[in-house]
Amino acid sequence: MKNSGKPKSDSPKIIPRAAHTVSRKEISASALKVLYRLHKSGYQAFLVGGCVRDALLDLHPKDFDVATNATPEEVRALFDNCRLIGRRFRLAHIRFGREIIEVATFRAAANHAADDVAHDNEGRIIRDNVYGSIEEDIWRRDFTCNALYYNIADFSIWDYTNGLGDVERRRLVLIGDPDVRLREDPVRMLRAVRFAAKLDFTIDPDVITAMHKNVELLANVPAARVFDEFLKLFQGGFAEKTFKLLREHKLFAQLFPATDQELNEDASFRKFVSAALRNSDSRVAAGKSVTPMFLIGVFLWAPTRRLAVIRRAEEKMSESQSLSLASYELVAQQQRRIAIPRRFTIPMREMLALQPRFTLIRGKRAIKLLDHRRFRAAYDFMLLQSEVGLVDKDIAQFWTQVQDQSVVQRAQSFQLSTPPEGNRKRRRRRRRRGASSGS
Ligand code: ATP
Ligand code: MG
Repeated sequence: MKNSGKPKSDSPKIIPRAAHTVSRKEISASALKVLYRLHKSGYQAFLVGGCVRDALLDLHPKDFDVATNATPEEVRALFDNCRLIGRRFRLAHIRFGREIIEVATFRAAANHAADDVAHDNEGRIIRDNVYGSIEEDIWRRDFTCNALYYNIADFSIWDYTNGLGDVERRRLVLIGDPDVRLREDPVRMLRAVRFAAKLDFTIDPDVITAMHKNVELLANVPAARVFDEFLKLFQGGFAEKTFKLLREHKLFAQLFPATDQELNEDASFRKFVSAALRNSDSRVAAGKSVTPMFLIGVFLWAPTRRLAVIRRAEEKMSESQSLSLASYELVAQQQRRIAIPRRFTIPMREMLALQPRFTLIRGKRAIKLLDHRRFRAAYDFMLLQSEVGLVDKDIAQFWTQVQDQSVVQRAQSFQLSTPPEGNRKRRRRRRRRGASSGS
């Protein structure tokens, strides 16, 4: 029989504390506080979603979602540090310093409350705003592994969908009919890939079939929401694996159409992208910061270069100018799929336009590159290109070395006839000081 993730009955399998591995040590003190207070006030209070799943997998959850039968207003009445957010569906955010615990009231699922749920022509949910019971709440969740409820009353886990079995088998199974669930919300396709990469789970064959049928529906998702999802896909520390899965399931072409085309044709670009993804994952693993502008720049690099050549043939301009113009056009195309904020596209375009300047290693204009506000990112980008043979190794080495050199050494490296500005000023100052002390 096909496993469609449908609950076997409306009563959950209850796994007592002694029979599962979710320990309170893994739950943040703030989340426990919220759960206990709701419970003491007579409400049901559960942890749900990724935190329960990750705790079961020993992945040390970082954010905690609470589900309750208290309405948002009732939640607010219990906590001073509570704010209600969301218009379509109200959620309570309870703040503890920098940590926010999100509390959601049980909600009825799409198919269970047809009167109150509006769908568009493709079946996408455009409105769902009915409170429900826990028995209804499970239906709106995406994957069975995300629909496990940890009950603070006795520390048991309530499992309506065989989520625990799927976690043990490491399988991503959609609750209900996969085709319907992906049409309701095409972002679930991206979530499937993200969880498969992060958790090392296999995507259920029925989900894969439905995904392949519905990839194009991603184009209907608001571009701002896709950007949020893009960040989760590529900044969670599993970018390389996520990327492979996105490509395998033809989802990447929906997100970055121009990039996908270049990847199909250009092996060195494929190598460059892989190197960038690996680099990004190792930065995340080392606790270093990552900026989305760098990876977006990497993705748009090959299409930008190609278009720049065309623009330069049409009109007289420098290579930098043509890259800047081409990246502007590609960003504009890209915005239809993913709304990339300007605070990322502007530095990204600067980073790309600076690339030709690295080949210039003699003279005043060359040395000035070191002072450019985008030097660091542009240098990292160039270094990555040299790693895969797209930039001469000697050039990369030159720019690495000059960064550590003294002013005088630098002047020699760049073969400046007159000493650089800083040096001259210093000497003049020294001369003046000497003059005043002498008189
Ligand atoms: P992570 O925090 O690692 O991204 P998560 O599973 O907690 O994973 P969230 O986006 O935090 O993901 O959502 C919390 C829970 O809300 C999910 O586990 C799932 O049950 C439900 N959920 C979130 N997004 C959707 C969606 N698009 N469709 C259905 N259910 C969803
Ligand atoms: Mg979460």
